Amino acid sequence: MATLQIEHLVRRFGQAAPALDGLSLSVAEQEFVFLLGPSGAGKTTTLRLTAGLDQPDSGRILLGGRDMAGIAPRDRNVAMVYDKNSLYPHLNVFENMAYPLRLRRMTDSDIRSRIGRTAEILGIGHLLDRRPGQLSGGQQQRVAIGRALVRDASIYLMDEPISHLDAKLRAHMRVEFKKLQREFAATILYVSHDQLEAMTMGDRIVVIDKGRVQQVGTPRQIFDTPANRFVAEFVGEPAMNTLDCALVQDGGDWRAEAPGVSLHLNAGWVTRHGLQNRRAGGVVLGMRPQHLTLAAPGDAGQPNVETGRVYAVETLGSETVYDVESGGRILRIWSRRAPDGRALPAIGAPISFRVDPGALHLFDSGTGQALAHPDPGPRRAA
Ligand code: ATP
Repeated sequence: MATLQIEHLVRRFGQAAPALDGLSLSVAEQEFVFLLGPSGAGKTTTLRLTAGLDQPDSGRILLGGRDMAGIAPRDRNVAMVYDKNSLYPHLNVFENMAYPLRLRRMTDSDIRSRIGRTAEILGIGHLLDRRPGQLSGGQQQRVAIGRALVRDASIYLMDEPISHLDAKLRAHMRVEFKKLQREFAATILYVSHDQLEAMTMGDRIVVIDKGRVQQVGTPRQIFDTPANRFVAEFVGEPAMNTLDCALVQDGGDWRAEAPGVSLHLNAGWVTRHGLQNRRAGGVVLGMRPQHLTLAAPGDAGQPNVETGRVYAVETLGSETVYDVESGGRILRIWSRRAPDGRALPAIGAPISFRVDPGALHLFDSGTGQALAHPDPGPRRAA
């Protein structure tokens, strides 16, 4: 039995489209589940309903199998990480963290050891005597996280708890959070719009948009086999390139064609996914920037080598992202090679790139639902 089961939740605010539109999800005991979605998707609303801070119009929330309808927040045994402003200003860090434990009549030695371990992992062990007003914003936020985690709750609800920390601390916290979760055998529902956090920390990810679940899966499943165009474009950095195309058959040869682009597809892949029946309708081709590679100028004209012009170049340390204008649209190419400044192509310069036909995704252009993903194989382990 899942620790948390959310069934068909609907929450409306006024006349606007519902914030939650029949949302269902579950979190198993000791599982770390991410609720990932863009701004306004309904993430915070889901957490507030789970904590009992707000009531659904319809649907059910079960915690440990028990229906939470009519149960007050304090009786739900849910720990929610509020932001740093929820710390008690007159109490030092130790007492802030000890407060929920004392309420539960934990012994002093248990309180000391639990706080000591949590504070060590969060890197706030040296701050236990200070008051919140004597801490930086990032330190206060870590104390707020620590205060929630020291509690023995059925489930921990976290609303973007590390999004305000600086990049280095966030990277540290991503690793430490996962460790803390394992160590405390905690069950966590964690809200974020940051896919990097979700991909690195989550056991499972629930992708939501407009109050509806778009896909549930492991980080790998979400990335490798996005259920629809929304997930494909939302998860992955840089985002997947998508291209409206027509499928064209020429004897045994299958091509995906769009203005300025003509890609040869693997015939076996086309028939295995029943795509031959799709000729009449439009499809959307998905290409991850990692699966487009720069080609030598002399390769132009070879199968699956396309041409365009450099629109922008972003150098990210050891990698480079090229925005290439091709057929009136921008395609992004992610390259592991980082040319030195002099070798960077000029804006507007012609550029050729190769498309790997074994790495294509295909979506229905009307519904957005996935029609085909790349075949699993050694290439995808790269
Ligand atoms: P963000 O990442 O920006 O925090 P979110 O996914 O957490 O977004 P919610 O805060 O759950 O989104 O909001 C979902 C929708 O419900 C939004 O359109 C929001 O404007 C609306 N909404 C949320 N709370 C209220 C409220 N109290 N009154 C009116 N509308 C609300």
